[in-house]
Amino acid sequence: MIHTLRDTTTTDRVLRLVLTHQRRARTETHPGDPCARCLAAHVPRVGAFVELNRPVEFVLPAFPVKSPNPAKVLGRLPDMAEELAVRFLDELCTRIAEVYPPGAKVIICADGRVFGDLIGVPDPDVTAYQQRMRELLDAAPSGRLSLFTLDNAKRMPTHGMLRDWLDEDFGESAEDLRREVCDDPATTSLYRGLCRFLFEDRATPDYAGTRAALQRESRRRAYGVLSRSRAWGRVVQQRFPAAIRLSIHPQPCGDPKLGLLLGTGHDAWLTPWHAVAVETSDGYRLMKRAEAEALGARLVRRDGRPSHFTLEGA
Ligand SMILES: [Zn+2]
Repeated sequence: MIHTLRDTTTTDRVLRLVLTHQRRARTETHPGDPCARCLAAHVPRVGAFVELNRPVEFVLPAFPVKSPNPAKVLGRLPDMAEELAVRFLDELCTRIAEVYPPGAKVIICADGRVFGDLIGVPDPDVTAYQQRMRELLDAAPSGRLSLFTLDNAKRMPTHGMLRDWLDEDFGESAEDLRREVCDDPATTSLYRGLCRFLFEDRATPDYAGTRAALQRESRRRAYGVLSRSRAWGRVVQQRFPAAIRLSIHPQPCGDPKLGLLLGTGHDAWLTPWHAVAVETSDGYRLMKRAEAEALGARLVRRDGRPSHFTLEGA
């Protein structure tokens, strides 16, 4: 099909809106803002939707479950931290619809069920988190956000069998994965980040073992989480083959995945499920719960549940 000038311009405008919020690794340079090479990498997929005059589809594996570490978060359910991210994505969709009337759709591919067992979060907690996320996404004014989970991908009698299906049909060999973690810098840094999160999330006052044992255990589980996340990526790819794949992690320049921040503040590298929202005179910020408490922030409850903090004089 021939791209008309109108299509090219529209594709460019849609992509520029998204790339404004591109998440970049601090160590990597991208030529320009927005980055010309990243722009070019996503033109074919976005352009394909624009040519058909259909909503541009984005998939975002994210919003797994709340971190099990009470020093970071307020509880097990999505709270104001998630609401702010949903609001951000909703507004992004609205802005895209202003330059391209068919607009965009963001499908959150929640991955809590995919690796909940490896991070020590029970399945009922995953279910509760997903249910609340679905409510938040359904309530978003643009009507363009939705949720897709492992439970929607396949029907199985138990969640354990669902994960076995994922490993068997979409997994890869442990050896291949280890080689990639050694050889590919982006995978190495993702693996290291996972090790750090897994360590932090278990290093709570009630942890009885040694630091070295916890580090070893975190490295082992990081491989599992990485492997399952990638298997989930393949399920998502099969289910939404034309969609643009977003990621909450920084991606190499020109990569087919697009790293996206979930907010506009300087704290946006923190994800809602590893943090709490703190309302200041300057708007909301994300930080770890222990940090908010150390600053003397006051807890705000809504609908009988802890929602966020307020910080007076900040
Ligand atoms: Zn780039």
